[in-house]
Amino acid sequence: MQSVPTESAHTLPAGTFGAWLKSTRASLQGEGGSDVPCGDCVGCCVSSYFIPLRPKDTAALHEIPAKFLSATQPRGNWVMGYRDDGTCPMLRDRKCSIYAHRPQTCRDYDCRVFAAAGMEAGGPDKSVINERVRAWRFTYADEADHAAHRAVQAAATFIREKREHFPGGRAPTAPTGVAVLAVKVYELFLDEAAERRDAEALAADVVKMARAFDAASTDLR
Ligand code: SF4
Repeated sequence: MQSVPTESAHTLPAGTFGAWLKSTRASLQGEGGSDVPCGDCVGCCVSSYFIPLRPKDTAALHEIPAKFLSATQPRGNWVMGYRDDGTCPMLRDRKCSIYAHRPQTCRDYDCRVFAAAGMEAGGPDKSVINERVRAWRFTYADEADHAAHRAVQAAATFIREKREHFPGGRAPTAPTGVAVLAVKVYELFLDEAAERRDAEALAADVVKMARAFDAASTDLR
């Protein structure tokens, strides 16, 4: 189980929670990219991530040497691995050497999703990102913002702790998958009574809501 982030000595402004949630959900549905305040952080480029590339990543696929790519399903999709030290092969001198043409996955990666879900990005290989996750601080415009944040965290806790109640026992196990699913289905958890519902029925509703969310994606239209 992923641990909950502990407090960090320094803080980073993560923006207003409601605005972040709205733009992140839009980004997940292929409507506009997320505007991530990365600064000089290259955490996601040094953390042993496999980077998926979709057919529309034509510029990135043109720039990345074939030896770093493996074909994956569905046809036309690829994945880029990482070096033995966990760094992306496109990272040179702590800078992305194909920044203007980087894959959409890199453009969309936003480690605030872990701060939103109240969890860390992973184990020791994600330590750089975990440090940043601990530093993010959201602000709240109103009680609805607070309620939405509590709901995202409750959704992430439910997905992590009630995995066996999901159809076929299938729920995301990777931290990114858990946090992203929590963002997609948080509305089910706005009512705090949701957590007292039958776990199997609630898990089925999570799957149904996630499918509806994905079906609305402009990427799939
Ligand atoms: S392609 Fe560039 S932005 Fe993406 S992980 Fe590699 S170095 Fe980082």
